[in-house]
Amino acid sequence: MSDDLACARCADGECRSMAIDAISDLSISASVGANGRNIKDDVATIQEALNQVPKQSGGPFPLLAVDGLCGPKTRKAIAEFQVKQFGWGGTDGRVDPERRTIIKLGEFQERANAQTTGTATAGAPGSVSEFDRLAEMHTVYAKLPEAMSWIHAALRTLDRAEHVIQNTAIELTLDAAGRDFVLVDKYFDIIRLPKPRQLGAIQFVRRVFQNMRMCIGHFSQMTLIGTGYFQYDPTKQNPKDQHLAFTYFGGFTRVDSRTKRPPVNARNGLRMDAIYMATKVLGAYTLEVITNTIVHELAHFVGPENRGDGIRDHSYRHKPSFFKLPHFQRLRTADYYNEFAGEAKLGREVDNDKAKPRFIQLPEVIIR
Ligand SMILES: [Zn+2]
Repeated sequence: MSDDLACARCADGECRSMAIDAISDLSISASVGANGRNIKDDVATIQEALNQVPKQSGGPFPLLAVDGLCGPKTRKAIAEFQVKQFGWGGTDGRVDPERRTIIKLGEFQERANAQTTGTATAGAPGSVSEFDRLAEMHTVYAKLPEAMSWIHAALRTLDRAEHVIQNTAIELTLDAAGRDFVLVDKYFDIIRLPKPRQLGAIQFVRRVFQNMRMCIGHFSQMTLIGTGYFQYDPTKQNPKDQHLAFTYFGGFTRVDSRTKRPPVNARNGLRMDAIYMATKVLGAYTLEVITNTIVHELAHFVGPENRGDGIRDHSYRHKPSFFKLPHFQRLRTADYYNEFAGEAKLGREVDNDKAKPRFIQLPEVIIR
């Protein structure tokens, strides 16, 4: 599987590799703005794009002359757009190819195009306002404390299981610690391994959960709505393919070797250091299924980047062979992480079946 294909978790509980097509056609050949190369056609492209941005979203007023010359007015307009969209920390006064400023500008252009051509349909990217996107992402962020409690439960279980392994004098009884060892073994198949490899496996799994905790637990720009690791899914969120979320393997630590910054997918301009949430599709599911999806995607996202070691999908919980997979592959399969964390938290297996109805049907009240 190519590394720039997204991994999409679908409604049937399986992940599919998915090519996300270009979200916007806006592109430039070289940088525009402060210290940019400022090629005439590129400057004109950016001037035109900036003019499509409403003033309240950081667009220029009065509108820029589209003359292809990057003078003080154009440079100021780029900086003002960045401040409005990304805050002061995100301001360098320059638009670079395939980086977040041009991607943001592309979103506004999509929206403007949809309005003028009337092609927008419900769910199309152009028809969703920034306000709606943020509101929908609020509902995802509201689920993160539950995901965090699963992650904490997993870490506690691993610690106690490790304690059991280190103290061989402890009999494997059904006390709390014994149950923790049994639970780790149920998902990661460690009981037949020699002691050092048992400890190594616990260390491997623990690092994944520690990374998840780092990913959602520390207050930073990357945990905030809008700029953070969780992003609104900009695709049409097509109800036919029913993907709930998608991400790029190892996105948490991926760095573009040239720019030393998180990479942007060349095909669609999306950040590869993000988990995209199909809020519209997810809205139909229970908190438990949504939390399971979040932890599953986090496992792909924070797992090792290199292909042999990355966390993929060698099996899924609903497959009859799930508990027959060898130890090595279990460590590298996302469903073992989310299902293990869920059972650690809930004290029973995760219930993946219950989709909640979108509307609660109230009995009709007749007033006489
Ligand atoms: Zn997956």
